[in-house]
Amino acid sequence: MPQQLPLIQFVERPGIIDLAWGHPDPILVPVDALRAAAARAFDRYGPDALAYGTPAGPGPLIDAICERLAETDGRAPAPEEVLITGGSSPALDQVVTLLTEPGDVVLVEAPTYHLAIRIFRDHPVQLVSVASDADGLRLDALATALQGVRATGGRPRLLYTVPTHHNPTGRTMASERRAELVAVAAREGIVIVEDDAYRELSYDGPPPPSLWSLSAAPGSVIRLGTFAKSIAPGLRVGFMTADPATISRFADGGMLDSGGGANHFTGLVVAEYMGSGDYARCVDLLRDAFRERRDRVLRALADLMPPETAWTRPAGGYFIWVDLPPGGDGSRLRPLAEAGGTSLLPGSTFFIDGGAGAGSIRLAFSRYSPAQLEEAIGRLATVLRRQVPPATMAAPPDMK
Ligand code: PMP
Repeated sequence: MPQQLPLIQFVERPGIIDLAWGHPDPILVPVDALRAAAARAFDRYGPDALAYGTPAGPGPLIDAICERLAETDGRAPAPEEVLITGGSSPALDQVVTLLTEPGDVVLVEAPTYHLAIRIFRDHPVQLVSVASDADGLRLDALATALQGVRATGGRPRLLYTVPTHHNPTGRTMASERRAELVAVAAREGIVIVEDDAYRELSYDGPPPPSLWSLSAAPGSVIRLGTFAKSIAPGLRVGFMTADPATISRFADGGMLDSGGGANHFTGLVVAEYMGSGDYARCVDLLRDAFRERRDRVLRALADLMPPETAWTRPAGGYFIWVDLPPGGDGSRLRPLAEAGGTSLLPGSTFFIDGGAGAGSIRLAFSRYSPAQLEEAIGRLATVLRRQVPPATMAAPPDMK
């Protein structure tokens, strides 16, 4: 028998409820509705469904995205403000390819989405981190960082941020700070790359308007959206909203000229799925399912964590950020957690500067049932209580 090659990224490890992965629970993936949408796309478009697509992406999908954003964001884009992408990751790579010169500075919030760091590191750019707090990226830290970069002759070009249901912290930047941030970017001539992956997964009411929708300065915000979280990651379909000149810069680039629009056929399937009303229904179901999971994890943390552990209460997305009790260390905790039947990502994974984030961990509540999540938090608490010396376990929990 030839060895079977792997099919998917997630690696199931027997006995481990793995909270390290930000992947959706397979039971929430709408296989049947997508199969039907694919059949409709073939019926409607015939061979054009499989032709090279137009560079900016198929019109029906662009129209559907404009309509949806009219409901879920501060303003709807015009069609010429939208580009269909192969998801946020390739779009981010393309943004860096087309908008930076070697040596340019990319500012990233700290902590930040760890795999965006990997994408930036594929390019000859310099990364500079900007501290954040409970309300997101700190504007005073941004001003200091910009000053520091300019003082040493550096060229700040991009600012990468996840302002809504942040990965890894789950936090959301408040509306007032959003407006200020957008004004700072316009004044400083930097481009904000707004990673808006989790907008649809809002559990406590609508999220604040995107930075993109708040910006009046053409070219100063590029928002990256994705269907990875609101439908399924394997589709590899997402979108960018930006001013028409920026969209043209991407649509007219060599990559899309040669290959046509990103994932043309899958984009048409998503357009059918949106047009039928299945998308809106699916997002409602996802919100309900993930809200229940989030709440179950938050309750289990409150019931089971040792004193002096603190955690965020995300209003959406997949993640909870936990500050361990004094002396706790996420990297040391991980193998112990795995021996105890669960897993996590150490906080240091999400910082570009070695050493930061050591006392924190990220937990994903996206992949397992509420009962399994509760079991996982119980296992984590058991390991943590063993790791934390009893002397530090006196004060009440600082829930945040
Ligand atoms: N951005 C963030 C903040 C994410 O959490 C993820 C998924 N882990 C992505 C981007 C990846 O998006 P895509 O699948 O569209 O490349």
